[in-house]
Amino acid sequence: MTRYGDTRKSLREEKLAPKKQLGQNFLVHKRTANAVANCGNIKKDDIIIEVGVGLGALTQPIAEQAKEVIGLEVDRGLVRFHKEKNDLPANVTLLHQDVLKADFEDLLKRSEAKLKIMANLPYSISNPFLFKLIEHREKMDWATIMLQKEVADRLTAAPSTKQYGIPTILLQSCATVKSLLTLKPGEFHPRPKIDSVVVRIEFATDVPPDESSYNWPLFQRIVRAAFSQRRKTLLNTLTAGGFFIEQAAGDKKITKQLTKEAILLADIAEGARAETLDLEQFIGLSQAFASKLEK
Ligand code: SAM
Repeated sequence: MTRYGDTRKSLREEKLAPKKQLGQNFLVHKRTANAVANCGNIKKDDIIIEVGVGLGALTQPIAEQAKEVIGLEVDRGLVRFHKEKNDLPANVTLLHQDVLKADFEDLLKRSEAKLKIMANLPYSISNPFLFKLIEHREKMDWATIMLQKEVADRLTAAPSTKQYGIPTILLQSCATVKSLLTLKPGEFHPRPKIDSVVVRIEFATDVPPDESSYNWPLFQRIVRAAFSQRRKTLLNTLTAGGFFIEQAAGDKKITKQLTKEAILLADIAEGARAETLDLEQFIGLSQAFASKLEK
């Protein structure tokens, strides 16, 4: 099967209508698939995990550059199609798997090294997928993923912008993120409504972050609580987060007072909002909260 110019025809012939709920917008140009694969900076000894194989448009150039590809595809019809046609390159192993349920420990064993992930991802799973990468940050080498532009923009956003939020901070705490390539809707079938961006996420080699200097689970809880209501002050959102509720024996006034002291201890104004804080300040907050919680 030709995967590129003939995408529409092939889908019709195989009675494979693109499934909107699975975000099936297939790449239709070979040169674009090559350009996306090149963003992976793949080495010839790499074993690459490709999420969402689809018709194999991206699989092809990845397989040409890598030693092996482990492809994950949740759509049973597409997996059956590739098995019947036997059309994927010989160094590709296709697994019928939902990446959100996939066992990263198992993928790590198959990869023989930290995970290198390539994906053209549906919007609906972008956030849970990114959070899964963050959760497994110590197993990750890099991820080169195509996302809707608005999701990609959130990952590289600066403080005090609308895009700045939970994924921005959590990802910045364990990785560097770069936008590499913008793709127009005409590169896909069917055409999505907005542009897509390929981002490269390089995970830090010393992750999990030095948990002796700050407590990552607490840091994560603070970031999530702080952004739970963007327009409210840190004092309100972090009080509502209930960090000191036990110490205050359930007393709301004392909880608020302890929260205020912890925020001030981090040298941050109680009236500040989450979106104005940078990564260092969130780390400072988690250190201050940790030291106060120990007392
Ligand atoms: N890689 C192909 C390309 O670039 O043309 C297909 C990309 S298409 C945007 C996304 C693919 O991810 C679809 O084939 C879809 O079935 C698959 N997919 C959606 N959700 C998934 C999940 N949770 N786990 C694995 N694959 C998924």
